Amino acid sequence: MAVTIKSPHEIALMRESCRLLAIVHDEIGKMIRPGVSTYELDKKAYEMIKDFGCTPNFLHLYGYPATICASVNEVVVHGIPSKEKILQEGDIVGIDMGLIYKGYHSDAARTHGVGEISRADRQLIDVTKQSFFEGMKFARAGNHLYDISAAVQQYAESFGYGVVRDMVGHGIGTRLHEDPEVPNFKPRGKGIRLQPGMTLAVEPMINQGTWEVEILEDDWTCVTLDGKKSAHYENTILITEGEPEILTLYRDGREV
Ligand code: MG
Repeated sequence: MAVTIKSPHEIALMRESCRLLAIVHDEIGKMIRPGVSTYELDKKAYEMIKDFGCTPNFLHLYGYPATICASVNEVVVHGIPSKEKILQEGDIVGIDMGLIYKGYHSDAARTHGVGEISRADRQLIDVTKQSFFEGMKFARAGNHLYDISAAVQQYAESFGYGVVRDMVGHGIGTRLHEDPEVPNFKPRGKGIRLQPGMTLAVEPMINQGTWEVEILEDDWTCVTLDGKKSAHYENTILITEGEPEILTLYRDGREV
């Protein structure tokens, strides 16, 4: 499938899809505390997305059973929400979700600390987030896709962290997963040339230890091979001639 360039009309719909998703992320973030189950977070996200007249895009995609992915500690991504999974003081939890507004998808992830977390875990979360913004310095028309990948990788690895290779970001639009793949490490070559109107989900997954991961028997839950913690940070972005527009952040740039 070819990489799509969105028209101004499509970009307006993407902006609204992403704006609504940012609101849901904000609310879910406020619920995170010791004692809450990941099921409760999932239920709230589902209700909010439905109340907006939108559709959760993870639910039933490739058979996935929930609205959000809630990935605790050594879970990298695709943690399935559960009534049995109760967040504990000192955990970190990655919340990944998206929605469809008038046929257009949004996708974003945040990693939160639960109560008091260790300095090491705080650093992991902060570096993962910053690695995304290091990538954004290269996310503009005329550059190549892997300029973003290389910047993410270099920053994260400078802290001794492992950059997950088995899963990557992606183009996004009328489908959640469009071309191109957006790796968080630099493959061979340069990647496609970035053009205004491309919309991408850029999503570093960064491990405290090895970059290697494995999938558990539920066929979804992706964990670090060494059992060390992992963090995830993602936004849907728009490539422009200048600075990228980070669609799943509030327009004033405030973090959600
Ligand atoms: Mg994504």
